[in-house]
Amino acid sequence: MSKILAINAGSSSLKWRLIEMPTEKVIAKGSAERIGQKLGKIKVVANGEKTERESPVPTHHDAVEMLLKMLTESKIINDFSEITGVGHRVVAGGEIFHQSTLIDERVLTQIESLAEYAPLHNPAEAEGIRAFMAALPGVPEVAVFDTSFHQTLPAVNYLYSIPYDYYKQFGARKYGAHGTSYRYVSQRAAELVDQPLADLKMIVAHLGNGVSLDAIKDGQSYNTSMGFTPLAGVTMGTRSGDIDASLVAFLEEKLDLSVEQMTDILNTKSGLLGLSGISSDMRDLLAKETTNERAKIAMDIFIDRIVQYIGAYTAQLNGLDTLVFTAGIGENEAPIRSRVCRSLGYLDVEIDENLNKAARGTEQLISTPQSKVKVLVVPTDEELMIARDVVELGKIK
Ligand code: AMP
Repeated sequence: MSKILAINAGSSSLKWRLIEMPTEKVIAKGSAERIGQKLGKIKVVANGEKTERESPVPTHHDAVEMLLKMLTESKIINDFSEITGVGHRVVAGGEIFHQSTLIDERVLTQIESLAEYAPLHNPAEAEGIRAFMAALPGVPEVAVFDTSFHQTLPAVNYLYSIPYDYYKQFGARKYGAHGTSYRYVSQRAAELVDQPLADLKMIVAHLGNGVSLDAIKDGQSYNTSMGFTPLAGVTMGTRSGDIDASLVAFLEEKLDLSVEQMTDILNTKSGLLGLSGISSDMRDLLAKETTNERAKIAMDIFIDRIVQYIGAYTAQLNGLDTLVFTAGIGENEAPIRSRVCRSLGYLDVEIDENLNKAARGTEQLISTPQSKVKVLVVPTDEELMIARDVVELGKIK
């Protein structure tokens, strides 16, 4: 039996999960939030008990040291030697990393060198990795990249129609995101329909706060809706998704905004929040949809963009066998799945509303036996995928 730590470090947070392998049982999980602010928040769930406290967490390095100390002090582990591997989610792998990779000094430097593609994430992730390498010498550390699953995209799908030199000189291309989620969900969906993934034309709709869709062909990512950064694609909680690039320049001028300010608006004040003026959270919008005109239009646009991408990807895949819903909204919100599927009648998609309603955070086939496309709900599990990669690459028994 081995114990693997799966680490997900954001710009001001560090989430973790301790997973027993090969049983894949979650032993404990938790997070440090508001890193770098006056007062951080530390949460731990272990043995069915939830604890929460506030304490300053100045850096990601401190967050790692506090986590390791807490694991032994609260007897979640007796000794650091019980931790047999650590896996780290890394947001940007650029064109360097095509798969998860064992980390050494060279890999760490490469992750740092990709900071310009994910300025808020890669440096924080690298700092966390360094802290673990210092605290747990000799323990295999593995980097699992959000982008690597999409390195199979053909040039026709990853290139933008801008001067080709910008791709060559600056790496200006589509990288996509949510790759670890897609890898897990697509494999699991293929198991559930009992067919080899390589034989399926599949679209996965990852509908969370961040939203993207992925077209999977021959078992690989063929096209994906996020772009150079996770700002592109469909309407999200606070992100705009695709817009005309000249509108950005137009609004910068009208509002007298810097590029940074405009980018921030597109990332944090747009999407469902910007349209509705109420909330970025789908639960709030569903509650207000019938009484508030702007909540309704926000929802209509959300559904419409997803339906547009499914149509586009079905054309690119030349058909569709399997449609999968995942992440917060995809796993829990039957009305959203229902509305998306109702717009896909032209593909002979038919779902069983009773099965659809029954699926709340659970694996479930929701299409009828007559449906030409199998429609499934598959809860995503990025941490488990990370732990599996650590076991495989670290050759852990
Ligand atoms: P995620 O980013 O995957 O955590 O998804 C967040 C989105 O899922 C928000 O828009 C939530 O409103 C929506 N959601 C709906 N039901 C739930 C639920 N039971 N738990 C978490 N998120 C939910």
